[in-house]
Order: sequence, then structure tokens, then C-alpha cells
Amino acid sequence: MTQKYYIITFGCQMNVSDSERIAAVLESIKYKPVQKIEPADLVVVNMCSVRQSAVDRVFGLNQKLVKLKNHNPQLTTILTGCVLKKDEKKLSRFFDYIINIKDIGKLPKILRNKNEGKKDYLRIKPAHVNKFSAIVPIMTGCNNFCAYCVVPYTRGKEVSRPAKDIICEIKNLIKRGYKEIWLMGQNVNSYGVQRETDAKQNAKLMRNKINFPKLLKMVNNIPGNFWIRFTSSHPKPSTRAKLSAGLVPYRNKVSGTGDFSWNELINIIAKGEKITPYLNLPVQAGDDKVLKRMNRPYTIKQYINIIKKVGKKIPDICLSTDIIVGFPGETKKQFQNSVKLFKEINYDMAYISEYSPRPKTMSAKMKDDISIEEKSERKRILNNILKETALGKNKRYVNKVVEVLPMEYKNGLLFGKSWHYKTVKFKGNKNLIGKFVKVKITNALPWILEGKIEYRI
Ligand code: SF4
Repeated sequence: MTQKYYIITFGCQMNVSDSERIAAVLESIKYKPVQKIEPADLVVVNMCSVRQSAVDRVFGLNQKLVKLKNHNPQLTTILTGCVLKKDEKKLSRFFDYIINIKDIGKLPKILRNKNEGKKDYLRIKPAHVNKFSAIVPIMTGCNNFCAYCVVPYTRGKEVSRPAKDIICEIKNLIKRGYKEIWLMGQNVNSYGVQRETDAKQNAKLMRNKINFPKLLKMVNNIPGNFWIRFTSSHPKPSTRAKLSAGLVPYRNKVSGTGDFSWNELINIIAKGEKITPYLNLPVQAGDDKVLKRMNRPYTIKQYINIIKKVGKKIPDICLSTDIIVGFPGETKKQFQNSVKLFKEINYDMAYISEYSPRPKTMSAKMKDDISIEEKSERKRILNNILKETALGKNKRYVNKVVEVLPMEYKNGLLFGKSWHYKTVKFKGNKNLIGKFVKVKITNALPWILEGKIEYRI
């Protein structure tokens, strides 16, 4: 009898990408996906530990899993993703297996006692969730150890994928008609750092000096009609820049080629006709002292300089950021620097989070001294500024025709992303999903543009 699987994914796009790899491994041993959890013989939960709320959602699944197990005692449950050791112990009561995300290639062995599992999970060919937009991981892990973040503990050290594998995967996707490629990594700036697991590939990366801008250029040179996006970048100065400034390199100085100047990257984005003008550059705090306590090795002046350089070369750049409010010890005055920064940069989008301590991290040892009410007030303030700046930015598109990739259909309306990564809503037919169309923008709201279809490209 065919075994059915259901995957629950929490967290970032990297986890979405990992779930596509999990699906591919399961399908290689003849498991079939199901749209609802109830008929599944196997439930895989791909967890995120970045925020406590995400962890709580996994704990919140427990009752559901117990109920499903009572109904179907043959049900197998697996937990993977970003799992902290501390939570592992508590969650082991509700899952049959807890496996490291890097070991998903061993699922055939675990489930069928088959030996065909592949060791390196980045080499598993993913089963993409749609036929037009694909996430392509280029590296995983993080060496940065920001004071609040669990990723270095759950995902381990940075490992880059060989450029050859990445290019080959993208060429295949383009042949199959994919229109949007997301190059994904916790920290794409570090692309090209030493691969611990593969000395030969590492030597090649070093020889070819393939850093992130060079990889981006290689992807841009692949023939075809498609868009390239990437996330996430780190605003830290390059090791070269730090060395030439006579500064002591910070603790996470890379040992491979994963180092570039922002000028190099900006030039590639500006020239690359397939590279979309969208940059997510997490600032995390608007105050130098808070940044220092967060172990983020840059100043606000350096951050603004990068944004200015980007704006000069790519005037229509769409900017987003990630920021935390209420980090331990963040005074009202220091928070005002975040307010100032938001007003100065005019972000198109921002992902604003209220600080919550995560076990094992450096900040967990600091006193979480900002009240919940104050954190939500700070979030509200930044959100209000963002609403205004996002609306101001969106108004620039009114009466203009923009290219859109429709991704979703609901009640006669299509929702898609524009070249600048703006959400666009317009009337249209379902069969336009995954095909480029031209849309005339008729109205701008802070989080969405409304328009009328002009024609299909
Ligand atoms: S750069 Fe910092 S916030 Fe981003 S994954 Fe690494 S440690 Fe976490």
C-alpha cells in the first residue's frame, strides 16, 4: 500500500527549501504527499527555533499528534529543522524520531531500512512546491553568533555548496520553465567559506575564488527568461576592508573565499539584467551600542553608507530590513535611533520583532529588562513609520506598467510579485499563474499595489 506523508513547515524560506528536500527523499522511496494531515502515515515537522512563538507552535501540535496516533497507531512522526537540545528532550515524547536536518538523506534507512540515503543533504534534488518559483540554497549554517540567535547552534558552521552544483540545478529549473530563482543562505555574503565536509570542492572554490558576487554573475549568465532574487545579506564590513582599516578581524573571519566588497556586489546587481532590484539588509538595531551588545560588527554609519552606495547605483532599489525592538538594555534614547534610521532610510518593508530570549544564546544571559508592553509599543511606532514610507514608495508605481509574476489565485483575483518584489493584486485568469504579465498600477496601499492587466509577456 502507498504510504502518505504530510510536512508541516515553520520558519524561514530556508526551512521551506529544506522541506522540499525532505519531500524529494520521501518520494524517492515511493511516499506520496497528501493535502491534509489526517490520512498521512508519516508526519514530518520541520521546526524553527528562532523565536519562542515558533517553538510554542510545535509544542501546540502535541495534542493533535497524540489524537492522530490514537486513531492510527501505525503513524510515524518525525521532528527535524532547527531544534535546540533543550527542546529535543521535551519533544521526544511526541515524536518517533528527532533527526538533524543534515541527516534527512538517511530517511530511507530510518523508514524503510534501506541504504540508499545520500549523506549530503544539500546534494538532494528537491521536490519543488510549485512550477515557477524555486528556492536554491547556496550555503547553510552561520558563523556570526549574533547574541540573540540560535541558528549557529541549530544549523552549525557555514558550509557552501559547490558553484557547479548550484548552476546545474538552476539550468535544470530554467529548462523546466521556472521564472523566479531565490538564492538562499543564512548569510549569502559568506558564500565560498570553507567546506568542512568536502576538501576537494573546497580547494576548487578557493582556486576559482568564487565569492557571492561572482556566483550571482554566473547565475545571471545562464540563458533564459527568469528573475534572480537572494536573501539574506549581512551588513558587516568585508574582512579585507577591516584589515586595510587596521582593525582586528572579528571572531568569525572566514577561512575561504567568502569575502567581498559591497562595491563588487552592487555593481553586479546593477549590471545583471536578471537580478531584481530588491535588497533585504537586516539592521537589527538603529543604535551602535545595541549593535555591539548584539555582536553585530558594524556601525549605523557603515550601514547607511552601504544603503547610500546601493541607492546611487540602483536608484529604484526596493529595500527591506529585519529589526528587533526591546533588546536587553535598549534604552528609550537608543530606540529613538531606530526611529531615526527608519525615517532616514524610507524602507519599502521591514520585519519587526519584539525581542525574546532564546536558550543557549549570549543574550539569554542578559536581563530581559524591557516590558512586554514597551516592546509592543516600540514595534507599533516603527510599524507606523514603515506604513508611511512603504506607502510613499508604492505611490511611485501608480499609472506605471510593471512586470508581475502571478503566484496565487483567489475569487477572480491574481496575486503576484513584481520585478521590485512588490505584491500586486489584479483581476485575471487562474491559468496566468507562473507566467509573466504586464500590469498597470491603478492604486497604491502600504502593503500592496492594485492594478489592471495590460497583456501577457
Ligand atoms: S547572521 Fe546573526 S541573525 Fe543571521 S543567522 Fe547568523 S547568527 Fe543568526
